[in-house]
Amino acid sequence: MRVAVVGGGPAGLTAAKTAADNGLEVTLFEHYRIGERINCGEGFFDILGLCGKPGAGVLFKVQQVLLKVNKLYRIDSTELNLWMIDRASWQRYLAEEACTSGVKILEETPIRIQDMKLLQQDFDWVIDASGVSSISLKAVNNTGENRNRAALTIQCRLEGDFSSLKNSLKAVLEPHYQGYYWIFPKKASKRGIANVGIGFFNYPSAKIDLRRELFRVLQQENLQNCPILEYRGGKIPLNRVSPFMRGNTLLVGDAAGLASSLYGGGLDMAVVSGRLAALSLAQGKPHAYEQLFWKKVKRKAIIEEKIFNLWEQKGINFMETLFRNPVNFLIPSLFSLMSV
Ligand SMILES: Cc1cc2nc3c(=O)[nH]c(=O)nc-3n(C[C@H](O)[C@H](O)[C@H](O)COP(=O)(O)OP(=O)(O)OC[C@H]3O[C@@H](n4cnc5c(N)ncnc54)[C@H](O)[C@@H]3O)c2cc1C
Repeated sequence: MRVAVVGGGPAGLTAAKTAADNGLEVTLFEHYRIGERINCGEGFFDILGLCGKPGAGVLFKVQQVLLKVNKLYRIDSTELNLWMIDRASWQRYLAEEACTSGVKILEETPIRIQDMKLLQQDFDWVIDASGVSSISLKAVNNTGENRNRAALTIQCRLEGDFSSLKNSLKAVLEPHYQGYYWIFPKKASKRGIANVGIGFFNYPSAKIDLRRELFRVLQQENLQNCPILEYRGGKIPLNRVSPFMRGNTLLVGDAAGLASSLYGGGLDMAVVSGRLAALSLAQGKPHAYEQLFWKKVKRKAIIEEKIFNLWEQKGINFMETLFRNPVNFLIPSLFSLMSV
């Protein structure tokens, strides 16, 4: 069986390797070079323990999350599957693994709408792993199924003194919007490097001046004089598409809108969906993919949605209560997830 994978991010690379390992003939098409133009804070939170530690690119195991709501909470994350990674190195490793398994990777090969239609004719199956701007959805004139509810983000990578964040990540919730800003260090030293970004999860896009918000955050954190190495950002889809299967195409990762609706992390779901889509094809049961996926992650999705809705209704004080008194809701939720 011949499978085309569109997109060489975590979802596409995982799908491609899994499919090849299970006897399928796989060609992967990537717009740029593998590991280029990545939009990500690079915190890998495998909350369900379904992915395991990334095989390469791990910068450190996160020991503590500094979460500021009104007060600052120091959350011990030693028992959580949470790593800070360098995504470019991880993705290049995944690509090497996929090649070793027999995947043919074509870099700098963007698939346009008309190409997508040809792939759907020429290959038995297509896996659409093209991210938030899913090319297979665009090909059917669908301009926003996985984008109509999306977090808006902007991020920069900058040099500075991040020694106080050794083995830690920092996230700050603010009262004037639903979302948060983050400082995720890639090098937590005096002459360090960090990804600093802000995400708006529920806000009319016309009203946000993203750059101004980012500079406000930099000032608030006393980072305004740090050299900025690059700007990134974009949308994180928070709306799941349904069905995942469209003709002979399966949607995975951000193309299927699978990032966390609560905090926008999507690396774990990209890996899980890529793997399950490929396995269901190899087993001759593509229809089973969507059900299989939700069976694994339903509880996580329900809990995240519930917290998000309460945050929306009750504002930041609900989040404060959640972290001030985690025994009531947060800890039981985490335990129920970890025992999935
Ligand atoms: C600013 C920001 C910060 C984030 N931080 C985190 C975080 O810290 N932790 C976390 O878990 N998640 C984070 N996310 C979300 C995470 O980045 C995504 O959920 C994840 O990358 C999804 O993986 P994917 O493989 O589905 O898609 P992507 O990683 O987007 O990969 C899609 C790939 O397809 C390629 N492509 C696209 N169109 C075409 C085409 N037409 N033809 C060929 N190739 C194509 C792209 O070049 C890309 O390589 C963040 C997102 C943003 C925007």
